[in-house]
Amino acid sequence: MKKLWVRRVLWSSAIGLCMMGCVFLWADHELNKVLGKSTRVVDFSSFTKSSPLVQIRNVNVLSEDCTHFITNQNLLIKDGRIVQIDANQQVNKDATIIDGTGKYLIPGLVDSHVHVKESKNDLFLYLANGVTYIREMAGRPEILEWRKSIRKSGLGPRMFVASPPIFSEAGLAGYYYSWTRQSVNYSNKKDAEKAIKKIKEQGYDAIKMYGFVNPEMFKITIQIAKENKIPVIGHIPLVDLETFYSSGQNEVAHIEEITVKTIDEFGKSISKNPEEYLRFLKRRSHQIAKKLKENKVSVTSTVWLCESFLAQRFDLKSKLKAIELRYANPKIIEGTPLYKMGWLPGKNGYEYDGKDTPEAKKLSLTFWKTYAEAIHIMTKALVDHHVPVMAGTDANVATAVPGFALHDELESLSQSGMTNSQTIYSATVEPGLWMKSKTGKIKTGYHSDMVLLAQNPLEDIRNTKAIEYVFFNNHVISKTQIKMLLKSIENANNENRNIEIGEYLK
Ligand SMILES: [Zn+2]
Repeated sequence: MKKLWVRRVLWSSAIGLCMMGCVFLWADHELNKVLGKSTRVVDFSSFTKSSPLVQIRNVNVLSEDCTHFITNQNLLIKDGRIVQIDANQQVNKDATIIDGTGKYLIPGLVDSHVHVKESKNDLFLYLANGVTYIREMAGRPEILEWRKSIRKSGLGPRMFVASPPIFSEAGLAGYYYSWTRQSVNYSNKKDAEKAIKKIKEQGYDAIKMYGFVNPEMFKITIQIAKENKIPVIGHIPLVDLETFYSSGQNEVAHIEEITVKTIDEFGKSISKNPEEYLRFLKRRSHQIAKKLKENKVSVTSTVWLCESFLAQRFDLKSKLKAIELRYANPKIIEGTPLYKMGWLPGKNGYEYDGKDTPEAKKLSLTFWKTYAEAIHIMTKALVDHHVPVMAGTDANVATAVPGFALHDELESLSQSGMTNSQTIYSATVEPGLWMKSKTGKIKTGYHSDMVLLAQNPLEDIRNTKAIEYVFFNNHVISKTQIKMLLKSIENANNENRNIEIGEYLK
């Protein structure tokens, strides 16, 4: 009798463990699936060939301060560097010649906030959109490997790679966040030292601060990062703005991060007091911008994404139809039942899920309208006080399609109070200076990261989309090749879809 009882317990424990193991494996599979790795990677080398010597003739070149075009210029590019710019250059018989007559040459664009995840085709979407440099804001070892191989082959954009995000949870919660958020977690100084040393050794360019880090671990992170000579960038952790300004974190990943702090400061419901909040913000935003400037803190924009929340919440289908959905990795947009991080209806965490009463919906609508307006007010204050603003998209967050999203962002910035010249500066010179890289300007000795446009972007910022050629490393890709490349990425995506998207396409 006793034996039977023991056997029963053993069997049920074994079955229980087995089930737990299966759930864990399934969850792990789901978490990895949404990184987009399973989508076939297109053969990018078949769309571009290396051109060690290129001459662009008779072109309008954007001035280094982005204020005007210098007419009738000739450029000689050798092994991916600009070696000569002048008005009277002989035709170089050994070079690939590109006629720039009537066209506009701007520096390659930089998207200062992206998430490539494991979706390698995204790298080519950036180049197809004239984005020759990306700042990956939640790096992974795979991305460091991709960067290494691009440095050899030239077949991809330049990359600045921040570490996985930092969390400061103790105990089991720490393990949970490391697993589900692919984060780095520590809750004491010794572990922080170990983790930051490892981040540095792995080759990451910065430490990505995250919003839930407690004040003590924030302070310790900055101190250890300083000793290891690695910058801290990203979200504003659990400290107020006064503590943050002089903390030593020299970049904020979203204008939104600063704006959200002002909602905390306001202390009342902004859905119920929208006008009062916006009046408060109009004053407060100038004080904040002044302090950021004094403390040499740069800010990455992601304005377009904040504007999109309202539409994603209440009219998702129209929003999806307005973007280039076909090129986004299908596994990323389809998401997982584990959490609503996908893009499509039913999968999208921004969709309205509150009470189904007219009052509740109205309050939510007021909140998100006010939120978008607040982002514009804050952006304008940053611009007025000359805080360095870098254009960034948060690409691969719902509805931000890698590469394409940067052009949307430029349009949003130009509508938020930046001149077209300042807008282009925020996606070229500013990030180039921030990264201390010879990119972002058309200048002798600089990398030949450039985009040739059919129309003048200073007249209309939407002209950054009128791409004729993209120059990167020692490669050139033409409009026709870009078209073929995009088709090929679309085909690879279609092969890997579980949910048809026909009804959401343009
Ligand atoms: Zn992000």
